[in-house]
Amino acid sequence: MSDTELKPIYCPCCGSGKTGTVMLCSGTLYSVKCEHCGLISDGKSTEIEAVKAWNTRKPMERIVEQLNEMIDPNVDIDTGEACNNWVLDLENAVVEECIKTVLKGGKE
Ligand SMILES: [Zn+2]
Repeated sequence: MSDTELKPIYCPCCGSGKTGTVMLCSGTLYSVKCEHCGLISDGKSTEIEAVKAWNTRKPMERIVEQLNEMIDPNVDIDTGEACNNWVLDLENAVVEECIKTVLKGGKE
């Protein structure tokens, strides 16, 4: 695919195909925006760069969903009462930190 044919893919947040490039700062900064949920990418100096950055984004909501599944409810399966297993609490805290990191989008 040549750069001129490069189009933004579906929205990683809502899955909508209604995505397109938008110009910010009168022609010096471009982003990709989802018309459905309003998600907007970081500004890049060219449309091509903006589309490439958008298209290589990981589907964040699925990563968060997977991480959430790793959190152990830490309750007795039979009674539903809290087990207060500190090892599980510690593991859950680590996973929760990972979720926060993903939601923040990693390091700039
Ligand atoms: Zn969207």
